[in-house]
Amino acid sequence: MNVEHYDAVIVGARPAGAATAMLLARAGLDVLVVDRSEYGRDTLSTHALMRAGVLQLARWGLLEAVVAAGTPPIRRTQFHYEDGTSEISLKPAAGVDALYAPRRTVLDAVLVDAARDAGATVRYGTTATDVVSDGSCVTGISLRDERSEYVVRARLTIGADGMNSRVARLVGAATTRAGRHASAFAYGYWTGLDVDGYEWFWRPGVMGGFIPTNDGAVCVCVGAPTEGFGGVSYAQLLERAAPDARERLAHANPPAALRRFAGRPGHLRRATGPGWALVGDAGYFKDPLSTHGITDALRDAELLARAVVAGAVQDFEAERDRLSEQLFGVVDELAAYEWDNGQVRRLLLALSSAMTDEVEALAALDRPQVPTMPV
Ligand SMILES: Cc1cc2nc3c(=O)[nH]c(=O)nc-3n(C[C@H](O)[C@H](O)[C@H](O)COP(=O)(O)OP(=O)(O)OC[C@H]3O[C@@H](n4cnc5c(N)ncnc54)[C@H](O)[C@@H]3O)c2cc1C
Repeated sequence: MNVEHYDAVIVGARPAGAATAMLLARAGLDVLVVDRSEYGRDTLSTHALMRAGVLQLARWGLLEAVVAAGTPPIRRTQFHYEDGTSEISLKPAAGVDALYAPRRTVLDAVLVDAARDAGATVRYGTTATDVVSDGSCVTGISLRDERSEYVVRARLTIGADGMNSRVARLVGAATTRAGRHASAFAYGYWTGLDVDGYEWFWRPGVMGGFIPTNDGAVCVCVGAPTEGFGGVSYAQLLERAAPDARERLAHANPPAALRRFAGRPGHLRRATGPGWALVGDAGYFKDPLSTHGITDALRDAELLARAVVAGAVQDFEAERDRLSEQLFGVVDELAAYEWDNGQVRRLLLALSSAMTDEVEALAALDRPQVPTMPV
């Protein structure tokens, strides 16, 4: 069987994997990133970025490409509750003066292009089937494409293969913290909907979001506890979540198709072990009502890359967990939908405080390049 050699092989070429590949390649490592999907393909996810995510794109020099793709800037956020609306204007801070919600067809392609530009080898249509081990340490991965099966040996095998991570399962990564609650989601793309920024709707038992994105479209999502979600239509949930927006929705064009997510509780898994690491949803997933998974994937790509380059990959997990624990707990409480109007406000304030800590931690990192050092 054909055997190739790299410093690092990464399974998954979306926010976590592509960004990690880019950063390791920029640091001079020989990196292969594979994905069973294809370049520029959409995925099941809404795509609101929070400040830390935009900050990462800016620090890496990738925000221009996202803006150039016609992604609209977002400078205002409204929180609609049963008993009133709060509005926040984005204060320029940490070099970020607007938020963005690029379609995944845009964002993931920008990240993969940047990984390639940095010198990483990117292969689509390639599935990781097994990890290779010498008995005590993971030494690579078995891959399959439409023509062949082969092995890639690497000093580090990284699972960036999403919430159902096969790499996590194959290396036996233990779950260190498990969420108890889960939301199901449905979303679609509206046109002609009058919005000015992000709008979030929180009403007992339901939440919703208006997320302005590329091509003048607005991603309109609704979430509710997984139990009972099946018996209620998207239109009914939207009416429950956003009755104040009824008029605006009536004058807009609804989506031709809806995407649905059944929901699953969050997890924090061991992030590293002998010869392996997990990044992004593979190691840390939380309920999508956080709209924070991509932002954290971009954060953790850098934390992992820095730890690898410093020769201290085992330090990644502690830093990831330090920045994740508060947010993880708050998101799980939100996903219980057992709050009233006052409690949800308090939970969202706690979420905001966790996000501020994250922005400060990232803003404190050195400028883009990871120092050039061997693994
Ligand atoms: C309904 C929903 C709404 C969401 N909304 C938001 C939001 O508004 N904002 C936000 O920040 N986050 C949101 N998220 C979360 C966000 O989608 C994830 O956190 C993010 O995609 C994680 O990126 P990742 O790179 O870790 O994994 P993924 O994006 O899941 O990418 C994993 C990749 O690994 C590949 N792969 C998997 N297994 C293999 C294998 N064996 N071999 C080769 N390739 C493999 C897959 O093809 C995939 O391309 C949402 C999620 C859902 C489900």
